[in-house]
Order: sequence, then structure tokens, then C-alpha cells
Amino acid sequence: MDNCIFCKLVTNDIPSLRVYEDDDTISFLELNPSAPGHAMVILKKHGYSIFEYTQEDLGKLMASVSHVSKKIETALHTDSLTIGINHHEETGVPHLHVHIIPRWNNDNGSALQSIVKNPPKESREAIADKIKAA
Ligand SMILES: [Zn+2]
Repeated sequence: MDNCIFCKLVTNDIPSLRVYEDDDTISFLELNPSAPGHAMVILKKHGYSIFEYTQEDLGKLMASVSHVSKKIETALHTDSLTIGINHHEETGVPHLHVHIIPRWNNDNGSALQSIVKNPPKESREAIADKIKAA
């Protein structure tokens, strides 16, 4: 995609600090890291969301996420990792990317579920029924 900054990283039209590459994916350090070693993993093929990729593509992406996560844990001696996707975010780069954020005890971070504070007004059972029926 012509205007996608991550596609330009894939083609090296924009430089990046790559930490891993294979035939289908690359991983590079985040430009504005939340922690030392904060990395991104993307498929080389452009797509905005998980819905634009095949199951095979997503399998390759997650295999790279696993591989890079192990490398980060080994290299940086992390206590844990937070791994996540801001799916359909309107302000981010419109190319599906997985964040791998190294974590250490007492790093002032918190768990993924602390990001949003929007308690449901319906019962969990009603919401589960809606999702199952969709
Ligand atoms: Zn792209």
C-alpha cells in the first residue's frame, strides 16, 4: 500500500531497527517505546485488520510473535511480556501489528484488562448470547 508507513519499512524505504525477519514477517523496535525492547511484529503483506488475512497468514504472524517474544525474554531478562493488538484503532498505523512490550516487576505498568474501564450494563449472559448469535 502506497501510503502505509509499515509497508515502507518492509521495503526499506523507511529505515527501522529490525530484530527479526523471515519470508512473511518482520519485527522491529517501536519508535516510541513503552519499555526497553518494545517491539512490533507485522506481516509483510499489507492488511488493516485480522479480517483481511487468511488463517495461514495469521498463523505465520503468531509464530513470529512467539519467536520474537522468546528472543526478547532471553536478551533482556524480562519478568513477563504484554502482547497485544489495538484492533481497528483509528489513530494508529493502518497495517495490522502486534505489540510485544517487555515487562519487569514494579515497572509501573499493569495488565491489559486495565486499559479500559467500561463496565457492562447488560448481564454477561446476555452479552454472551449476542456474541454467539452473531
Ligand atoms: Zn501496510
